[in-house]
Amino acid sequence: MSGNGKREKMLPYGRQWLDESDIEAVLQVLKSDFITQGPAIRTFEQKVADYAGARYGVAFSNGTAALHGACFAAGIGRGDEVITTPLTFLASSNCVLYQGGTPVFADIDPDTYNIDPRQIEQKLTSRTKAIIPVDFSGQPAEMDRIQEIARLHDLIVIEDAAHSIGAEYQGRKVGTWADMTMFSFHPVKHVTTGEGGMIVTDNETFYRKLLQFRNHGITRDPQELTRNEGPWYYEMQSLGYNYRMTDIQAALGISQMNKLDVFIERRRRIVSIYNHELSGIPGLELPLQLSETKSSWHLYVVRFLPEYFEGSRLDIFEQLRNLNIGVNVHYLPVYLQPYYQNLGYEVGICPHAEAYYRTAITLPVFPEMSDKDVFDVISAVKDIPSRKI
Ligand SMILES: *Cc1c(COP(=O)(O)O)cnc(C)c1O
Repeated sequence: MSGNGKREKMLPYGRQWLDESDIEAVLQVLKSDFITQGPAIRTFEQKVADYAGARYGVAFSNGTAALHGACFAAGIGRGDEVITTPLTFLASSNCVLYQGGTPVFADIDPDTYNIDPRQIEQKLTSRTKAIIPVDFSGQPAEMDRIQEIARLHDLIVIEDAAHSIGAEYQGRKVGTWADMTMFSFHPVKHVTTGEGGMIVTDNETFYRKLLQFRNHGITRDPQELTRNEGPWYYEMQSLGYNYRMTDIQAALGISQMNKLDVFIERRRRIVSIYNHELSGIPGLELPLQLSETKSSWHLYVVRFLPEYFEGSRLDIFEQLRNLNIGVNVHYLPVYLQPYYQNLGYEVGICPHAEAYYRTAITLPVFPEMSDKDVFDVISAVKDIPSRKI
């Protein structure tokens, strides 16, 4: 830092961590016979499924495609309602629209920022088909209560775990709770394949549907064919897409998975420094840590209560950015996006999510951050002018 506390280079809010072993793994595939849908895909799928405690994994070209596949496998179509949270990346509800279904937004719990099971119950109708909870910031949603609601009303649960690979709820890994669980391997997430995603599931029917969906709806499995005209023969049995991941990406993913626990450990360490150093600042709300969840800390979100600070949230954001602290805001509630507004979703349907949005700022957390980086963030936050009351 120079005299005014400005870093020389922008510290991003998140980024990948690649080392020589990752690069070597990719080079090996490039020199092999298969660069797409070869042996690395199966190995990667099994590795992620084993890690998450699920039987099957199906890799996709990205997490959004994986969510689309899950909606297809769940049979979501026109007229079906799917309950999800407004406090998420667009993909969690766009995947419902892709299938012709209707996303229904249930408000967040104002303390955990995750979808509130009581709000889910209020949004149930005879057309509700599924729930898509999101483990916001890496802290699992209330999966026991969500599963209970789903069992009572015969709903399918698709957990958007883009933020939460490696996290635990009541001592059980994310991946063991929902009917289908989605992981993303975008570079800001815990482990990366460049672009990539996966569904893990214990359900063989979902597994088979997902495999078809990512490959145009095609099967070659003799058990599934309606007839067999010869060794060349395959059948398209449903309308799928080309959502395949390449072996190049899968090899990177396998190599990254070897380091996942180290990455999460480092994220938890950074968060414990933040929690220790930032506690006690009037008007600064730190993330709530519940005893039944073990977060894997994709995001560290703090809230600046307006009555305690001189500037607005925008002023605070710009002050931090001007010091090259790469803060961010996650997220504008999905239904406030112009596209959703045009679909007829009204302002005010989820007041807790809207109130959250007005005061939240995401501080940088990623495993390659040095302790010095962490303390640069801390001193920048401590320098934000408070209001003299
Ligand atoms: C990143 C993300 C996704 C989508 O993942 P991509 O791999 O970028 O398609 C979905 N949901 C949430 C909450 C995410 O953060």
